[in-house]
Amino acid sequence: MISRASEASQSKSRVDLAELELPEVEAAMVARGEQAFHARQIYRWVYRRGQADIDQMTDLSRPLRARLKDEFTVSTPKVSGEQLSTDGTRKFVLELADGRHIESVFIPDTPSMTFCVSTQVGCAMSCGFCLTGKMGLVRNLTAGEIAGQVRVLAGATGLLDKPFNIVLMGMGEPLHNYDNTMKALRMLHEEHGLAVSPLRVTLSTVGIVPGLERLATEPLMPNLAISLHATTEDQRTALVPPNRKYPLAALLEACRKFPLKKRSRITFEYVLLDGVNDSADDARRLATLLAGMKAKVNLIPLNPAPGIEFSRPSDERVERFAQILADRHMTVSVRKSRGRDIRAACGQLIVEGGTKKSAGQQMARLIELDVR
Ligand code: SAH
Repeated sequence: MISRASEASQSKSRVDLAELELPEVEAAMVARGEQAFHARQIYRWVYRRGQADIDQMTDLSRPLRARLKDEFTVSTPKVSGEQLSTDGTRKFVLELADGRHIESVFIPDTPSMTFCVSTQVGCAMSCGFCLTGKMGLVRNLTAGEIAGQVRVLAGATGLLDKPFNIVLMGMGEPLHNYDNTMKALRMLHEEHGLAVSPLRVTLSTVGIVPGLERLATEPLMPNLAISLHATTEDQRTALVPPNRKYPLAALLEACRKFPLKKRSRITFEYVLLDGVNDSADDARRLATLLAGMKAKVNLIPLNPAPGIEFSRPSDERVERFAQILADRHMTVSVRKSRGRDIRAACGQLIVEGGTKKSAGQQMARLIELDVR
């Protein structure tokens, strides 16, 4: 089991190993006159065995453990709540070292096992149909907190030594916390740790164009999903406010230039809102916008929530929209919403906490109290 990090007060002067990539841990060992290979031992304990307690790292000598304990800590998010959906989805509320909370979700059998991970506490993007957006941004997560969610969920679900997928589709906008997100992916990719292949990671973004351009140059590139949601500039700006700064046209241009591996495609996510963006014309425009791109479309019928002014279209409308795309030879899937009964589905993640108590946040608290 992963144990809680030491008391915040004790760890003040200590280096947090959970925030370091392997070469950084090696450098920290060498700087203290220790052998670099201890870094690999530590990485194996923390990531592969889910052991964050330095005392329990039994292939390190006792004197070394004592020394390491003095100088280092391994912060690990603490599970402070867990809910199980009737469909097997598990939502974890995790408490961070500063007492803030985030949510991470385990979705079994999709057909693989998937962890849906947060990159920020709250979100600054304020998409009109998303509950997390109502919270506003509280703060970025550190790289260790992003990777820590995977450590905790893999430990809790018994998947530390099994393959799983990661989707950066929890709370927050990953490209709005670029450096920490990419550092977390490098930490998770480490072969002495969990060795997660970038092919098993999907980064979902509203489309912050400079972030996409940077992502295009990354050696460790995850699969890309773009939250499109509309087919005209005006409508997208209304639903996804960052569109004002990074318009649809510029976003699609960046997508066209995005380097894709053989056989890989960009996923375009499209939340269907009844009577708003789900007409036959919308579907035809979407097909035209994406024509000629290596794209697939993932339709997400809205997961409704109190405080969200939109509603979910009927299955017939969803089916009609999908059929129009399929008739135009597009690959299209309809996302089966998982964990809706425990508010773990897309756009339903929200937790109390944070200093900024906006009206939206206060309302969100009330909503949460209502369901729990
Ligand atoms: N900020 C990133 C990742 C988080 S959201 C992004 O926007 O892509 C993951 C997906 O869930 C996004 O496509 C988002 O638009 C969608 N989503 C948000 N609220 C939703 C809701 N109420 N119902 C269905 N999907 C929603």
